Amino acid sequence: MATHAYPDTQLLIDNQWVDAADGRTLDVLNPATGQVIGKVAHAGIPDLDRALAAAQRGFEVWRDTPAHERAAVMRRAAALLRERAEDIARLLTQEQGKPLAEARGETLAGATLLEWFADEGLRVYGRIVPSRNLQALQLVVKEPVGPVAAFTPWNFPINQVVRKLGAALATGCSFLCKAPEETPASPAALLRTFVDAGLPPGVVGLVYGNPAEISGYLIPHPVIRKVTFTGSTPVGKQLAALAGAHMKRVSMELGGHAPVIIAEDADVELAVKISGASKFRNAGQVCISPTRFLVHSSLAKEFTQAFVRHAESLTLGDGLAEGTTLGPLANARRVSAIAQVVEDARQRGAEVLTGGSRVGDTGNFFAPTIIAGLTTDADLFNNEPFGPVAGIRTFDRLEEAITEANRLSYGLSAYAFTRSLRNVQQLVSRVETGMLWINQPATPSAELPFGGVKDSGYGSEGGPEALEAYLNTKAVSAVGV
Ligand code: NAD
Repeated sequence: MATHAYPDTQLLIDNQWVDAADGRTLDVLNPATGQVIGKVAHAGIPDLDRALAAAQRGFEVWRDTPAHERAAVMRRAAALLRERAEDIARLLTQEQGKPLAEARGETLAGATLLEWFADEGLRVYGRIVPSRNLQALQLVVKEPVGPVAAFTPWNFPINQVVRKLGAALATGCSFLCKAPEETPASPAALLRTFVDAGLPPGVVGLVYGNPAEISGYLIPHPVIRKVTFTGSTPVGKQLAALAGAHMKRVSMELGGHAPVIIAEDADVELAVKISGASKFRNAGQVCISPTRFLVHSSLAKEFTQAFVRHAESLTLGDGLAEGTTLGPLANARRVSAIAQVVEDARQRGAEVLTGGSRVGDTGNFFAPTIIAGLTTDADLFNNEPFGPVAGIRTFDRLEEAITEANRLSYGLSAYAFTRSLRNVQQLVSRVETGMLWINQPATPSAELPFGGVKDSGYGSEGGPEALEAYLNTKAVSAVGV
């Protein structure tokens, strides 16, 4: 397998790529080999102060840039992202581990999302409200909220930035991002397309460093008017509390624990095909990954056998290698976390049907794992596993499956397979979730809202709601004199 150059990553401040003022860096590892492949600059407070000042200046320019011009820059950046997709995908795979085809797909999807946001920004209208006083003109005006602090994770290093960045730029906000230290080069390549597309200085900024130090400094800072975070529920709660104490607007896209309800009348073949592909995509490190499989007793054997066959057909390997369909986990923390989840299930008497352990002693490889016979108190049925592991339980009545689906405090996404409209209606009205996919894989296209309920967070990163989250509303009533 050919090796590919992997660059060191700098901070982006005022459209300049710079080292941290004190020269500090962090190592970046390839999860397939465990080897250090590069370095990323570690920002300190003086760097953050410069980035904040730039974000304020950038905001003052960008909010007064006509929406058509903003859209043109965003479209140019999207075109550059497409042009550079092959190189960027290679960076992404080297630092994150996912198979190259998935990395390419993520990069190209980023361009499509940016184009949608560019267009949607053209349709940020206010309204005219007829007044009770005929002399008064009443207006509702939409304005960008201001400089945004964004915190994005390592599982989709490009697309977790794109959804936030697209909405922020389309509405006229500036955008200061703390991207993941573990996967820094691909988000930097994304932001480079904006610099190269002619975005004015300060409109985007990029920093890396100590996550808690950076969020602790940026969120309370008076320049920052909006906070957006994607990551785990515990960290999201901390950041939302900090933002609340400083009355900052917040969007939180947090953990999930998606149930998959396979009803008595489901098309089992379709359920296996879709669930298999969805469960092991990005090695299960996906917030909307299907995890709790609730299968009608009459279909359990057929479904389970076919699901295991699918898992065993995957090719585990370095994401850059031809034929790899399942890459390593993104970091060593996930390997030990998944091993513990499996051990907990075993201790509770569950049956590990396939996988269940780490593979090899180099890199973060974990075998695709399917576990049946779980009790509802098993760790796998309660905490987001974020890895290539699926748990199966059976049910007899659809209501039981819906009760189980709603049992957890998560409410991000849910899946169901059924041929009956009556079941569909029941699922739509009863499942507590932000997104529900029936007889199909998740298709989180830009025009659909993307977000959760309950402990999975609030705010949406798709559809018109995504832009609304970056807008203030001003009511105006004016009488001529
Ligand atoms: P973690 O909870 O420490 O970190 C999750 C993300 O939050 C990382 O990107 C991290 O840099 C960031 N973060 C952590 N503390 C922060 C702080 N104080 N301020 C700002 N950012 C902070 O754990 P992890 O080991 O990186 O990931 C573990 C869990 O996180 C997973 O099991 C999963 O539940 C969740 N996660 C969710 C998503 C998602 O798409 N919703 C993405 C990545 C991780």
